[in-house]
Amino acid sequence: MNLRTKIVALAVAPLLMALVLVALAVRHQERDLARREQALFEDAYMAQRRNELRSYVELALSTVRPLYDAGLDDETTRAEALRRLAALDYGNDGYFFVYDLQGRSLMHSRQPELVGQNLWELRDKDGRFTIQDLIARANAGGGYVEYQWRKPSSAQTAPKLGYVIALPRWNWMVGTGLYLDDIQVVMKTLDRQMNSNVATTMLWIAGIAALGLGVVSAGGVLLNLSEHRVAEGKLRLLARQVVQSQEEERGHLARELHDGTSQTLVSTKLLIESAVDALERDRQPAPPALGKALARLNQSLAEVRRISHRLRPALLDTLGLPAALERLGDEFGEEGGAAVSVSMLGESRELPEDVKTALFRVTQEALTNVRKHSQARQVRIGLAFDERGVRLEVGDDGTGFDVEATQLDPQRGIGLRNMRERIASIGGRLSVRSKPGGGTTIVAAVPAKSLEKA
Ligand code: ATP
Ligand code: MG
Repeated sequence: MNLRTKIVALAVAPLLMALVLVALAVRHQERDLARREQALFEDAYMAQRRNELRSYVELALSTVRPLYDAGLDDETTRAEALRRLAALDYGNDGYFFVYDLQGRSLMHSRQPELVGQNLWELRDKDGRFTIQDLIARANAGGGYVEYQWRKPSSAQTAPKLGYVIALPRWNWMVGTGLYLDDIQVVMKTLDRQMNSNVATTMLWIAGIAALGLGVVSAGGVLLNLSEHRVAEGKLRLLARQVVQSQEEERGHLARELHDGTSQTLVSTKLLIESAVDALERDRQPAPPALGKALARLNQSLAEVRRISHRLRPALLDTLGLPAALERLGDEFGEEGGAAVSVSMLGESRELPEDVKTALFRVTQEALTNVRKHSQARQVRIGLAFDERGVRLEVGDDGTGFDVEATQLDPQRGIGLRNMRERIASIGGRLSVRSKPGGGTTIVAAVPAKSLEKA
């Protein structure tokens, strides 16, 4: 892991951890709140239902109390009381029931088939004694009992809250009940709402996490890019400086050769020539060694000139790049091997020192490569100026080569790399197009903004 990744990880990890903790805390709080809301709702609902039930039973009792309080215990009075209670239906599933205190059903307006049956042993699906529990509560002074019973409107068993009281003299338990399945539906809806609330909150937090992550990553990338740009700029400057000092050194050497060695050779040549002249004036034949020495001196002079010209072509400084390239082409042609054509396109303009030197050096190295590697018959040198900048092309019809493989070859030369760096150092781009058997073209393009004089 590099330093930058570590820094980004250090920024991201606590952010994510904090968000996860916030998410957990929020989820816990929301659930807690929802549970408390549910409990509150349930309590209020149950309290209301209990009050309702109690009033129903009191109302029912008020219809039979006159008979009961009158102290009448005969069958007819009780039958009248049962009839009055049976008539007291309310709502879809509201009805009264009467059992004797031994569990026998005396009246059930919605399930008349139960009347006469002893349900003492009846248990609900949870195994609780239904009628026994109701009777026990009635005997204990009356009150509420929760149990399961078949709901008439749906014919399904549903939880029910009953309220019962005893009329001991008649050996009766009178009661009614309210089904509680509707509150369960409400509770389930509340539960669903809570879960969807929690999910929405979690989504928000995940969204915020993603956003944070995106911002941190984008920051990292921007940092990376700007650092990259700075490093690239520095590298380019360095390359430029190296090239510049190399060129200065070459120029210096060229001048030394031209003004020092070359002058000495010229004066030596003049001395020998005057010696030969003096001998000839005395009518003495000059020794053949002198003639040979003169020829060698001339060769050396030409060689020194050539070297000094290669180091820093005077033409480049005096007549500019197009003329220097023409000259380079001519020299290459004179060396034999391939025919060279040099073409200029567009309106030639004065180029900054470093640009023309770089383009000249690229042409030199490209031609050297052609001579060394390509076995080409035709070589084209093209220089084109337009509003986008300047473009140099050196193409040959020789053997070509595999550019990628050459770049990966650890033994490869440095010519192509030097060209690339030289052109990059003046803000241009060098591309090499070549394929085995299909010739090679080197293109150096320098954009117009690099051609403005510094
Ligand atoms: P150096 O330039 O360092 O003296 P070099 O000429 O081998 O050595 P480069 O100039 O980088 O190195 O060229 C790399 C290789 O690309 C060459 O070895 C040669 O195989 C191939 N190459 C370059 N130019 C041409 C060309 N014009 N025709 C055919 N092959 C070429
Ligand atoms: Mg080379």
